[in-house]
Amino acid sequence: MSEGAQAAIVRMPDGTVKQVGPLTGTRVWTVPGRAHRPLTAPRDDPRRLAPGEERRLCAFCTDRYLETTPEKSRLVGPTFEEHRRVPADEVEDTVAEFRRFGNLFEIVSAEYWRENHGFRQPSSVIEWAQEYLANPVGRLHLEKLAAIRANATDSAPSLEEATLDLLGGSHDVIVARRHVHDGAVHDDELVSSGELTPDEHAAYLSFTVAALADIQSAQPHAAYVSVFQNWLRPAGASFEHLHKQLVAIDEHGPQMDRELTMLASDHLLYQHRILDLSVAQGLVVAATDGAVAVAGVGHRYPAFEVFSTAAAHLPQEHSAAEIRAVSDLVHALHAATGVHVPTNEEWHYRPPRAPWPMPWRVVLKWRISNPAGFEGGTKVYVNTIDPWELRRRAVAELTALRDAGRIAPGIRIGDEVTRDDTRLRYADAAGGAEREGSSA
Ligand SMILES: [Zn+2]
Repeated sequence: MSEGAQAAIVRMPDGTVKQVGPLTGTRVWTVPGRAHRPLTAPRDDPRRLAPGEERRLCAFCTDRYLETTPEKSRLVGPTFEEHRRVPADEVEDTVAEFRRFGNLFEIVSAEYWRENHGFRQPSSVIEWAQEYLANPVGRLHLEKLAAIRANATDSAPSLEEATLDLLGGSHDVIVARRHVHDGAVHDDELVSSGELTPDEHAAYLSFTVAALADIQSAQPHAAYVSVFQNWLRPAGASFEHLHKQLVAIDEHGPQMDRELTMLASDHLLYQHRILDLSVAQGLVVAATDGAVAVAGVGHRYPAFEVFSTAAAHLPQEHSAAEIRAVSDLVHALHAATGVHVPTNEEWHYRPPRAPWPMPWRVVLKWRISNPAGFEGGTKVYVNTIDPWELRRRAVAELTALRDAGRIAPGIRIGDEVTRDDTRLRYADAAGGAEREGSSA
């Protein structure tokens, strides 16, 4: 590998930091003097909300339940009790803390699976479609959605066909209850992941893990289910209302191929190339009993990487406590990031049919710059915050948030993180001599 000759991260005499992504080979420079620019431009003048407007700001808001596709599931009340497939005439009867439904405009459509893979909906979805259409409120709901889709896609399937596509698609959205804080006066009082309580975030995350398992078992032709969260428009979100997306795809993409090739010769790839590097370079940010966060090296944008340290690979193979450990760290990093910074949250885990062990990790990127002509011409990415500065900011912010009681108790921050916290266990079951190098 050509980049092997270059250190993953090095500071030049003038202060320029050069990085090479250990898994991607991406070249990133941080140029001195640019690190102290503000993270976000000030927002346009916040707009004062009319009474009740905080519940109908966008199609994901609580007063507009029937503007999304029929609900696959919702979580209700302080215990986050799950209600599945709530009929259209009952959606107003309870308040959903989180809801899951099919994306009206899918990236990979139901038609894709039908036409390219011969996928047919199972009887449970056909029965649900019949029930939903038999209900007058449900029928009207689906007629409206089918008309919107037909307009946008220039095709006009029957209502029955359109219903099956809307109910049985493999691109889901998970939406949080609040667009802005309860009682918000202005439209910029947004609720990001970090504004949730640690308990709400844990419910959100485990609801997403359950949805991932659901989609994987419902779509036998899927090689992978991509899980991500775009926060704010510069990060690709169409609504400033907190939501995650899950998209089944029939290949897992070139970066995963690259990692699987690297894993074939080193099952402890992530320990050796990421965690050991982070310890050696002082880039470990925080840890819980079950997860560890580092400031990532070689990302186009400043990025945190949160690794599950559990032996499990797929998110849904994790115990409730192991999922919570990941959730608490992801939540804390969102809180430390701040509500007005655009972010992408991306999940990585072993594709179910892949042969090598791979840990579950969540990458949180700050979308505070736009790669432009320099990057296009050179494939060298200029990032305004180097990993050491990212770690310094995060440790300071997490410490303040902990003092304020805003993040989950029990998070070890900065130098409180122990060497054992940084040991990944995903390859333990794979056994063997490969483990020896990392058992420090
Ligand atoms: Zn909304």
